[in-house]
Amino acid sequence: MTTLRIDPDRLRRDFDRLSAIGSTGDGGVHRPALGDDHLAARRWFRERIASDGLTLHQDGAGNHSAVLRSRDPGAPTLLVGSHLDSVPRGGRFDGALGVLAAYEAVRAVRDAGLELPVHLEAIDFTDEEGALVCLLGSRALAGTLSRDELDDPRCDLSTFEDRLRQADLTRQGILGARRDPKTLAGFLELHIEQGPRLISASAAIGIVTSIVGIGSFTLRFGGRADHAGTTPLDARRDAGRGAAELIVAANEIVERDFPACVINFGEMKFAPGAYNIVPESAELAVEFRAPDDDGMRSLEARLVDLARQQADRHVLDLQVRPQISIAPVPCATEVQSAFEAACQDLALPYRHLTSGAGHDTGAMALVCPSGMIFIPSSGGSHSPREHADWDACVAGASTLLHAVVRYVKEIP
Ligand SMILES: [Zn+2]
Repeated sequence: MTTLRIDPDRLRRDFDRLSAIGSTGDGGVHRPALGDDHLAARRWFRERIASDGLTLHQDGAGNHSAVLRSRDPGAPTLLVGSHLDSVPRGGRFDGALGVLAAYEAVRAVRDAGLELPVHLEAIDFTDEEGALVCLLGSRALAGTLSRDELDDPRCDLSTFEDRLRQADLTRQGILGARRDPKTLAGFLELHIEQGPRLISASAAIGIVTSIVGIGSFTLRFGGRADHAGTTPLDARRDAGRGAAELIVAANEIVERDFPACVINFGEMKFAPGAYNIVPESAELAVEFRAPDDDGMRSLEARLVDLARQQADRHVLDLQVRPQISIAPVPCATEVQSAFEAACQDLALPYRHLTSGAGHDTGAMALVCPSGMIFIPSSGGSHSPREHADWDACVAGASTLLHAVVRYVKEIP
């Protein structure tokens, strides 16, 4: 183990070259899935794999990877990786660092001449950010993507068709990218945290325990439009007031009673919408996230209950229309243990935390033991301000490499 190490300079060179592709000039990158700059980044990655003498693997969903084959042809595959696409004008660390750290881990294992009981594969998943279809590549590989989703992409259909054509992909190919879970030993991912918890805790590594679930619904309060000058406050059925009080109360309750959860009222619309009319209706878009099923259920029940209380108080009707619901996904304990052992090997302070954002790990965890680490990052994320200190990136890549070795030793 002591001779096994990543090459930080080589990793840095690759990171800087990749960051220049689709650069926004202010530290960010613009690489929406299968757009010109994303395709260029993918080409760069393939060329890198070829020039390093590793085996390139591509599937019908456009996922591509560098493979270091085990001596045993029947060995399962351990996937390590993330994504090269970005949100529009996003940061250069999100996803890209995870692909390059995985790639560096593969090179380090090869350079050390280490024989692993798995085929080790550093993978770049297509469209993690969901410009076209959410988690397209990882869900295609996991076999959880449906034909319907490909017929109803998040972008307009003609854009989707164009992008597929440019990348030489077809719906049939995407659906055919599924791999038999029996061939998969697991999936490990490194990612920037995209939040402030690791820096506040002075931890070098965050070991993710679960990817949070996401629930959302539209709430509509119905009241009565009235003259805003002549109707006394206590004689109104003010839908706006009910909505506003709900927002305040719900945030207070989540802060107090659901410390592992978050809530967001992302939109509020009043109608008719004039200075001098008491709002007849108020529509709210609310989203909440919790790390486990119990949290999802109890938080949802509490929110609906709270909305009913506000409706009663202000004599309003209430409609609740559920929108998306994504179940929380726990990370495999054996992967978490491998990351813990790696942090101990490297004497890096770590803590456990949940992921408030979706990741490829969430898709992979449904079919094979999967887990991820975060490294500290600042400046928020999904913006060119996103930043991670280079030392933190190197520590993360080293942890990933050591976790790979720790993990494969435990595979029965
Ligand atoms: Zn990401």
